[in-house]
Amino acid sequence: MHERIGRTPGGRLAPERDRFRRANDELGSRYAELSAEGVVPFICECADERCTRVASLTLDEYAAVARTPGRYVILPGHEHDDERVVHRDDRYAVAEWREPERAV
Ligand SMILES: [Zn+2]
Repeated sequence: MHERIGRTPGGRLAPERDRFRRANDELGSRYAELSAEGVVPFICECADERCTRVASLTLDEYAAVARTPGRYVILPGHEHDDERVVHRDDRYAVAEWREPERAV
C-alpha cells in the first residue's frame, strides 16, 4: 500500500527524505544490537539532499524523534524556513515539518 506522497521543504520529496530515515532506523537497530551507549552518529535528515553531515544523539533521543511523524533529526542550523524547530541543543536539533494549510 502506498501512502499519499507529499513534498517536504526545500524540494526534497518525502520518499527521498524517507530514505535517510530508513538508513537511520537501520543504524539505530544496529547500535541497539551492539548495545551502544551514549551518543552515536545519525545522518542529518535536513531538506538538503546533498547534506551528508551527521548529528549525535543517544538511541533514546533518536527513538523519541523517529516515533513522531513529520519530525526529523537535523544538525542545529539545518532547519528550513517551512520547518519549526521543536528542540535544539549543541548536538542536534529536531525539525517539525508544518503541513501546508491548504492542499494543492
Ligand atoms: Zn543537514
